[in-house]
Amino acid sequence: MKKAQNNIVSIIDKKRRGGTHSEEEIRFLVETMVSGETADYQVSAWLMASCIQGLNLDEATWLTQYFVESGEVLDLSSIEGVVVDKHSTGGVGDKTTLILVPLLAVTGVNVVKLSGRGLGFTGGTIDKLEAIPGFRVSLSNDEMLAQIKQIGAAISSQTADLAPADGQMYALRDVTSTVDNIPLIAASVVSKKIATGAQAIVLDIKVGRGAFMKTREEAQELAETCREVGWRLGRSISTVISSMDQPLGYAIGHTLEVIEVLETLKGKGPDDLRELCLKLGGVLLLAAGKFSDLDKAEAELASHLDDGRAYQKFQELVSAQGGELEALDDPDLMPQPERIRIYPASKSGYVKTLDSLKIAQAAKSLGAGRSTKESPIDLGVGVVLRKKIGDYVEEGEALVELFIGKKNEEEAFDLLKEAIVFSDSPVESPALVEELSLGEALKTLQL
Ligand code: URA
Repeated sequence: MKKAQNNIVSIIDKKRRGGTHSEEEIRFLVETMVSGETADYQVSAWLMASCIQGLNLDEATWLTQYFVESGEVLDLSSIEGVVVDKHSTGGVGDKTTLILVPLLAVTGVNVVKLSGRGLGFTGGTIDKLEAIPGFRVSLSNDEMLAQIKQIGAAISSQTADLAPADGQMYALRDVTSTVDNIPLIAASVVSKKIATGAQAIVLDIKVGRGAFMKTREEAQELAETCREVGWRLGRSISTVISSMDQPLGYAIGHTLEVIEVLETLKGKGPDDLRELCLKLGGVLLLAAGKFSDLDKAEAELASHLDDGRAYQKFQELVSAQGGELEALDDPDLMPQPERIRIYPASKSGYVKTLDSLKIAQAAKSLGAGRSTKESPIDLGVGVVLRKKIGDYVEEGEALVELFIGKKNEEEAFDLLKEAIVFSDSPVESPALVEELSLGEALKTLQL
């Protein structure tokens, strides 16, 4: 015990002074954190020192590796064919997983998706799925494998057995202002993806007001770090950088987002949401070796949104996981708000700003988000935008619909007031997909 204490103090000291760790030091840090020999306050001190002094690629790679080794790695070897996975760094109104998983499964690739719950302002896929009555979000590994073999897809909540050291460190980062650090985020995200076992991985890195990465440069650096760490650990990781300067789609809130997912799976739904799903899915089809041309891959996926097969696959997924299919035809069977109130435009003009962060906070204040891991959420509440950036609106016209439950709506109203800015002259809609980079193994392919 004494030796461990001495070592951890010297490791913290080394980083505080701007030193570079050896593999052995990173291994020691992770292993003694998991065993409890290193205390939370010591890990927290090391985290702060690392945020200030930085971690290089070697250090980020070792951190990722020892996160993976702290738990089990899903064994997907019994599944025939390629298994793919995607991850988003967290966005507002981001419901792409619910569309991509069935959509990709239609094309014959297997999709394994372990997702989390929402925390802070971002929504969690698992919470969204709970809006479908009966849907089982916790599958055992055996159930998940059996379901992938049967229908090609499964979505389940992330188990504590995969990269548990990341979970432990993330909980400390969350409360010590050490979340938004590129090597730490890369280690956290990539370790979970490696532990999930998929061969081809795409990361959707969000940039903008409603994202961890506030600038394009930071997003590019995170993308590059994730690709490089993945490559060093034997995985081909592709990255897409997408804008969070406005929410994705129109709906923010659980039932509301599931309804938008159903629309998109039926070939309707918002253009930006459809575009991002096709991009992320297209990249994965290239990574899986199904296509060598991104446009063709996207066209194939688009055809399955339009011919009803993606929706049918979603029905299979819901049914396999115990969800009530009737709720897909009749959204009134999902959790509902108590009433709806319109937020009108305060003046005529073009929508210039739709601050994702403030809009997410408005939805959260209605009860759609959590303040702590244990907080209950109201699945029926949220907001639906009626306009996006660049749209023209008349004074008094409905700009946002608020789906209100038990919580006070005035705070949400005030946040919307701050979130929306108008311009008298036309405004261009921001580009959604800002950059796309294929994983190392695929770099020779032309986009
Ligand atoms: N998402 C993660 O899984 N980890 C991070 O560190 C940040 C976002």
